[in-house]
Amino acid sequence: MRAVTFQAPGEVRVEERPEPELRDPGDAVVRIDATGVCGSDLHIFHGRVAIEPGFVIGHEYVGTVLAVGDAVHSVAVGDRVLGCFQVACGTCRLCRAGNFHRCEHGRTFGHGATLGDLPGTQAEQALVPHADLTLRRLPDGMAAEVALFAGDVMGTGYHAAAPVRAGDGVAVLGLGPVGLCGVQAARAAGAAQVLAIDAVEARLAMAREFGAAPVHLTEDDPRAAVKAATGGRGVDVAIEAVGDARALELVIRLAASCATVSVVGVHAERCEVHMGLAWIKALTLRTGQANVIGHLDRVLALMQAGVLDPSPIVTHHMRLDDAPDAYALYDRREALKIVLEP
Ligand code: ZN
Ligand code: ZN
Repeated sequence: MRAVTFQAPGEVRVEERPEPELRDPGDAVVRIDATGVCGSDLHIFHGRVAIEPGFVIGHEYVGTVLAVGDAVHSVAVGDRVLGCFQVACGTCRLCRAGNFHRCEHGRTFGHGATLGDLPGTQAEQALVPHADLTLRRLPDGMAAEVALFAGDVMGTGYHAAAPVRAGDGVAVLGLGPVGLCGVQAARAAGAAQVLAIDAVEARLAMAREFGAAPVHLTEDDPRAAVKAATGGRGVDVAIEAVGDARALELVIRLAASCATVSVVGVHAERCEVHMGLAWIKALTLRTGQANVIGHLDRVLALMQAGVLDPSPIVTHHMRLDDAPDAYALYDRREALKIVLEP
């Protein structure tokens, strides 16, 4: 089968790989119908995530079940399915508490040996461990390119906005696909107002379509805009969907007293923020990878009801064979979401 492999920073390639085979009774093999290119794939492309040259990448996918092990009960051969970007055992202490994102045996598709040695989904087929937990049948009438958001980007946006209560003021900093999904999820949770902050006009325009008030990061003054919108208080939930120190510092400043700062932007390094400000305001800081498996059924239900609709975020459809071009295009920030079809 053909599969997209990481070669070196700035270089991916489409190569032949053996078709996957069932290994454990809980496994499924899925023929991939559509697979996304994600911001975290770009981290790999840039060489910021250490993975082995030749490793198959990708982790957003919709497909058709080709084979299942004896212990798989929730999906069957021939079912169209969508899946999560990571898999969890379902039985460890953290999984038993519902914290699938921190499973002691968790593995992430397409991230090399350090994240569980699970080949990615930018391929004609993929092996899916713990299929009962990882996969869901595609809801009737839901397009593949929409469904693949449930297992990663929309699940993460939903996670980011999980602290939002009806009537809250919310700020979302960083309007990539996750931030834009966070805007939708905050609106769905009943936010009275959502201020959406970024420096890219097209992304601000899309946030406006999703019901947010757009605020330009540099041409406007985000702190003044938040103050003006909240009677000087600040927002009840400040979402950081960027993953750098300056962004974190800004959301701490945008937050009201006793607010929640929700950090879904990926942080891997030490960073300095004004802890005094966070302490004086009695902020709750919520961080980490999203519990996408835990949110999956709710997110799918909201997507099926049309309350959450990521379809405008899909800007490009390309062939799997054109993956090198897709990565180059994404790297130039000319696309929000590229969907590859084998
Ligand atoms: Zn992703
Ligand atoms: Zn577990």
